[in-house]
Amino acid sequence: MAAVQLSGIFKRYGDTQVVHGIDLDIDDGEFVVLVGPSGCGKSTLMRMVAGLEEISGGDLMIGGTRANTLAPQQRNISMVFQSYALYPHLSVYENIAFGPRIRRESSEKFKPRIDAAAKMLNLSDYLDRLPRALSGGQRQRVAMGRAVVREPSLFLFDEPLSNLDAKLRVQMRTEIKALHQRLKNTVIYVTHDQIEAMTMADRIVVMNAGRIEQIGRPLELYDRPANLFVASFLGSPSMNFAEGVIVNRTQGTGLALKLTDGREVALERTPASAVAGANVTLGVRPEHIEITTQIPDAALDVEVIEPTGAETHLYGKIGGTTWCVTTRERSKIDPGQRVALRLPAEHIHLFDTESGRRLV
Ligand code: ADP
Repeated sequence: MAAVQLSGIFKRYGDTQVVHGIDLDIDDGEFVVLVGPSGCGKSTLMRMVAGLEEISGGDLMIGGTRANTLAPQQRNISMVFQSYALYPHLSVYENIAFGPRIRRESSEKFKPRIDAAAKMLNLSDYLDRLPRALSGGQRQRVAMGRAVVREPSLFLFDEPLSNLDAKLRVQMRTEIKALHQRLKNTVIYVTHDQIEAMTMADRIVVMNAGRIEQIGRPLELYDRPANLFVASFLGSPSMNFAEGVIVNRTQGTGLALKLTDGREVALERTPASAVAGANVTLGVRPEHIEITTQIPDAALDVEVIEPTGAETHLYGKIGGTTWCVTTRERSKIDPGQRVALRLPAEHIHLFDTESGRRLV
């Protein structure tokens, strides 16, 4: 097992810098997920850790050893890719045994490891089959079996579930997490899928344009996103936003946020840095909005209704911006209706509109 430290890691391709000084400490045994939109530098960072991409600057430590210039095979890493990269003409057993054979280990030595990995991954009945006679999920498990028998100190997963259908993705998500709980190995897992990040990670690293936006436990990031980027990236349907200006309340005392449609939302928890005149963006998650019969904070003109079974998403406009409200009740609301909403103070997030940084 190994702890991993990245200090000031950057990457340039010619004149273009794509990773801009990443600092990240990963504990021994931790499951860390790098998540961010396509092109933000996740794979590049992962490939630098694996030794498949040269590090342009900064220090990479794996298990206390500087690894910047170590060859991939000296880093004691196993990697699982999106394409399973199985050998089509080799059986499941031989695919899993490929690494030990290349290293000329004796089969008495590696066979018990392969049998144990096959058992753990529910592949024992398929060891003689060729990859083409397996389902997508089984192929993915063979790829994991191959990674496991190497007994690496660090596992790297690069979008391993992207090629699977929705149901299998959910199943494999649980299997990978269970595997980690059993093996207690250090894992760096790359995905663009925020649900995968939320459900699997001990800690999530949210990346954007070659930089880290925020690092933290899944629910910490969900409950207190540090900026507008993280707030809008995590959560599905996404957090709702409305821009406004802080004003003195016209009714009662204290401050309010005057939205662009002229409506005022009273601010019960006023951030110290927000003074009248400040440009602020309010954020509230769809599931935290309440449909009310009392005096509302906002009104939604419902345009589209999406029942998912467990809950219903109501989409509509508030002051020209599309918002989503999630209700767990079976909705009797129809498109075209106007719905009165309460925005509970304890669930309101406020961000500085210009910098995007969290105020409260
Ligand atoms: P992600 O994994 O987050 O989708 P990547 O790490 O693949 O992102 O890419 C990060 C950025 O680096 C992208 O803008 C991509 O175009 C650029 N990039 C990746 N590989 C190369 C390369 N070999 N030469 C030049 N630019 C590259």
